Amino acid sequence: MYLCDIHSHTKISHDSQAELSDTAQAAIAAGLREFCVTDHHDLLNFDGSPAGPFDWPATKEQYRAVKREVGDKLILRLGIELGSAPYNPDMARAVLAQGGEELDFVLGSLHNWIGMEGDRDLYFSDFHDNMELARRAVESTLAHTWTLVTQCPDCYDSLAHIVYPLRYIHRDGVELSIADYEERVRAIFTEVAKTDHAMEVNVCRGEDLDSWPPLLAWFKECGGKLVTVGADAHRAEDVAKGIPQALEMIKAAGFDCVTTYERRKPVLHKL
Ligand SMILES: [Zn+2]
Ligand SMILES: [Zn+2]
Repeated sequence: MYLCDIHSHTKISHDSQAELSDTAQAAIAAGLREFCVTDHHDLLNFDGSPAGPFDWPATKEQYRAVKREVGDKLILRLGIELGSAPYNPDMARAVLAQGGEELDFVLGSLHNWIGMEGDRDLYFSDFHDNMELARRAVESTLAHTWTLVTQCPDCYDSLAHIVYPLRYIHRDGVELSIADYEERVRAIFTEVAKTDHAMEVNVCRGEDLDSWPPLLAWFKECGGKLVTVGADAHRAEDVAKGIPQALEMIKAAGFDCVTTYERRKPVLHKL
């Protein structure tokens, strides 16, 4: 089993205090072969305001220092979790261009409402007893995901956590399943597969293992071949949490390989 975790955050992200030296050491301690730091850059902030520039200088400085520190004990990659690319594709492309040759991997995310609910992160929405809002959140996310995969395929390598709205919908006790949206999700997966992109199994620090088996089955049926895994750790202690189980699930779904990225090119590793 090729142990890898290619979704993680550090203090460069607005919602993490972690040092990359600590998360990388945690990756080594967990037995990972490969680890990727993917700090957030959302074109829309948490509160819906447009974002300023991404701090590439600090990101690259931290990455280079820790890469030297870990040596050959860990394959350390530089990634980014780019949110809301459809909000401003030209700006998304400019941010990625600044990543230059060192940029290995781009996770494409949608955390925010776009054009409604104040453009805020879905985290801030109150879904309690509000099925109508919950449905709008899923529909809005899927609509923007469709735009991402059809209009901005250069703005992502792996489609991050397609179940993101459900994290908060379920948090607030509303029973809604991605199965209600199977046709739309399959259309997205078909496009992801056709354009040789990947789908991410995001186990959310080991807290979300159950969402993925049906999604992996759909992705495979839609022609998907590339699957990435991420624990989405924001603290060193969460690195690699749920990754062995994720790799087992991918294997059980009939995939032979897990995918990592180097200089934005997929590298397949036998499971
Ligand atoms: Zn995310
Ligand atoms: Zn993340």
